[in-house]
Amino acid sequence: MMRKHTALGDPMGMIRCNVHGLSPITQYCTHIGDAVDDGHFEQAFVEIDGWNNPNVLCSRCHPTALAVIAESREHPGEPFDFDFGDETSTGGCSWDLEEWMAATGQGKLTDAVLEARARDGRPGP
Ligand SMILES: [Zn+2]
Ligand SMILES: [Zn+2]
Repeated sequence: MMRKHTALGDPMGMIRCNVHGLSPITQYCTHIGDAVDDGHFEQAFVEIDGWNNPNVLCSRCHPTALAVIAESREHPGEPFDFDFGDETSTGGCSWDLEEWMAATGQGKLTDAVLEARARDGRPGP
């Protein structure tokens, strides 16, 4: 799906954003992506995947992600992500996401990521 703000990313975790130029990618589900695109509210939940990347998930995808995390505890060290086989997991410009979180009254993305890492016990950047 083509996003309004973002073009295809490259494998280095950067994306060429039409608004912000070359920007870091943050992973999110398509529902969060839709909300960022048209500015509507969607409750955002942050979880850390098995590649140690933060993922922003909506209230529908969040329980599935929690189940994946719970399952992964039985296979420590194995990478996992929140792509639920239906292209649920996508991603886009981190600054677009930051601005959308602020505009929808959900605070700072960086704070939510720190909180998720603390909860998860896997500190990282
Ligand atoms: Zn952007
Ligand atoms: Zn979702």
